[in-house]
Amino acid sequence: MTEELEKLYKDFEDTVRKNMPSASLENIRRAFDYAYKCHDGQKRKSGEPYITHPLAAAKIIAEMGIDEESVIAALLHDCIEDTGSTHEEIEKLFGKDVAEIVEGVTKLTRVTYTSKEEEQMENFRKMLLAMAKDIRVIIIKLADRLHNMRTLEYHTEQKQREKALETMEIYAPIAHRLGMQKFKWELEDRSIQFLDPIGYKAIAEGLKKKKEQNETFFDNVQTKITERLAENGIKCTVYGRIKHIYSIYRKMYSQNKTFDEVLDLYAFRVIVDDIADCYNVLGYIHDMYRPIPGHFKDYIGTPKPNMYQSLHTTVLGTEGIPFEVQIRTWEMHQTAEYGIAAHWKYKQGIKGTGDEEKFAWIRRLLETQQESDAQDFFKELKTDMFSDEVFVFTPQGDVINLPAGATPIDFAYNIHSAIGNRMTGAKVNGRIVPFTQILENGDIVEVITSNASRGPSRDWLKIVKSPEARNKIRQWFKKERREENIEHGKAMFEEELRRAGIPMQDVTNDENLPRILKRVAYPNLDDLFAAIGYGGASAQKSVNKIREELRTIEKAKKSDLETVLTQQQPKPAPKKEHPVHGIVVEGVDNCLVKFSRCCTPVPGDDIVGFITRGFGVSVHRRDCKNYIRSVSNPEEKDRWINVKWANTDSEKYTTAIHITAKERSGLVMDIAMVLNSANLKITSFNARDVGNGMSTATVVLGVRNSIELKSTMAKLNSIKGVTEVTRGQE
Ligand code: MN
Repeated sequence: MTEELEKLYKDFEDTVRKNMPSASLENIRRAFDYAYKCHDGQKRKSGEPYITHPLAAAKIIAEMGIDEESVIAALLHDCIEDTGSTHEEIEKLFGKDVAEIVEGVTKLTRVTYTSKEEEQMENFRKMLLAMAKDIRVIIIKLADRLHNMRTLEYHTEQKQREKALETMEIYAPIAHRLGMQKFKWELEDRSIQFLDPIGYKAIAEGLKKKKEQNETFFDNVQTKITERLAENGIKCTVYGRIKHIYSIYRKMYSQNKTFDEVLDLYAFRVIVDDIADCYNVLGYIHDMYRPIPGHFKDYIGTPKPNMYQSLHTTVLGTEGIPFEVQIRTWEMHQTAEYGIAAHWKYKQGIKGTGDEEKFAWIRRLLETQQESDAQDFFKELKTDMFSDEVFVFTPQGDVINLPAGATPIDFAYNIHSAIGNRMTGAKVNGRIVPFTQILENGDIVEVITSNASRGPSRDWLKIVKSPEARNKIRQWFKKERREENIEHGKAMFEEELRRAGIPMQDVTNDENLPRILKRVAYPNLDDLFAAIGYGGASAQKSVNKIREELRTIEKAKKSDLETVLTQQQPKPAPKKEHPVHGIVVEGVDNCLVKFSRCCTPVPGDDIVGFITRGFGVSVHRRDCKNYIRSVSNPEEKDRWINVKWANTDSEKYTTAIHITAKERSGLVMDIAMVLNSANLKITSFNARDVGNGMSTATVVLGVRNSIELKSTMAKLNSIKGVTEVTRGQE
């Protein structure tokens, strides 16, 4: 081990000694040596040995003084994920709890995050919290992320943005929910630095200038308050600080204020020994400085949901500078900074140490929650938080929120009633499971459906947990008769169609269907099938009508084959839900993209992107008035970046398909119809007879990806008479 590393370890050990006097330094050293061996040879992006990362995370845990197990687990937190180490081995060496915490952190590390809509995000956050059965898992995960954010500068710009966005959307809100403000602030400030470097720099510079202007201000206020309180026999610690950059950032952009309009850039903390003193201090402060009306908040009387307690007031300093004063006890301070982690420490702390009096306020808090035993507090907290919900994934990574105890059936009906009704099986984490399987947090659930499914069973009503699924199943039974009729009628209809030599697709394709329905005089095919099914209509007569209608349509088309081939169907408007897929932002993948309301660009428009203060990219047309005005403004100029449509023709690749088919009239037309309905760009189309009643066709076309190509080939293959479809070689 290098001297440098020994020094880092020594420093860490000092932190442990200071904050956790009862922890075994020997056990902790054993864990460090084990992790050191596991990560031997691995390096961080910064070039440092990998072990410096778990060591730093463990130091963050030690600073909070949680417990020995947490510190050991933090040292080992990347062992399972990145080295040959196993759960069993860790359990043997360091005990069951440590092994389970490390396993939990590993699980969370593996959950993949993709930026989605807000609602999904909240589910995602809840899921992460719920997945961590032991709250220490989350605390270590936060320490891990905090250290990674502190060393993010060594990563690529792309990675920085990804990590920063994930931190802002997932980890900072979790820290907030757990009351870990110190973590939250640092995570936010470090994220915004990468998400909006321009906005960050502007505030940082503004603060620096202010600080220089008001150099004596901090000292003055601090001295004056300390002296005044000392005169009145109140022991206290007073210190001033500048508010966190992100809290100023948010105020500026959410309330649309300029930097100078943000009132309380400065905050002072007065920390005292007991609650009575808090209110006394408030009196003295209001006597010394003029309070600004509407800014006083008593979070001691009414704690925030995350247990934060303090008195807040904003006053006007003698220099005319407004500042906020937060008054709290030391215990409240600990909770304000470390939230749930402080409670954890408290739980450990009261074990037979006789310290209970010191924590009177927490006991009161516990009492208000009707807790008789402090030991139960955490058990309650864990199970209470989201005990009635379970969060699972679709194979695409979407988070689905279901009631606890939900089964794959609930999942299927949550996706769509058609999925539930056609469900024949389910896989959880890749393995086939019974319908009665209870889903657990983080499960990946896949529904197996079949058109041959006979629909839900009445037993399902007893299995499902969600009212939604129950309703949908009941509905199905109500309509069951009709469905049976449709099924029966459809079979008769198809049989008749086959006899007439008409592919089903000719009936169902978007172009023909409206005319056919008009001809047979039914609002939709199901109604027609239902009527055939119960005998209200004749399958044969219906098919005769359809054949006549198709002939009329084909005649009209044949005259204008060229047009069919070259004319594209109008492109559908870009879907509002997932605009990001349509846009490529220069230099950045996977960032939030939205379309501006002022000029509503559509595919094909010449476009440009604006890095918004909400750290997404807003897309404008290049001829948009707002763009033209803004780009000439020196302050905003740098925020404009190049963007382009992802699926313009240049993004397509050109490929050729060979089709071999039995010669028949209408063949070329059928091929053209398939290509046209797939909305593909066709560059050339050649068909010729090759004798023996066979013909071949070669189509050169542009496709976006191989999936599109494969599906097109499959459709071509299903055309009557086609014997082979192959990829062409250029
Ligand atoms: Mn890590």
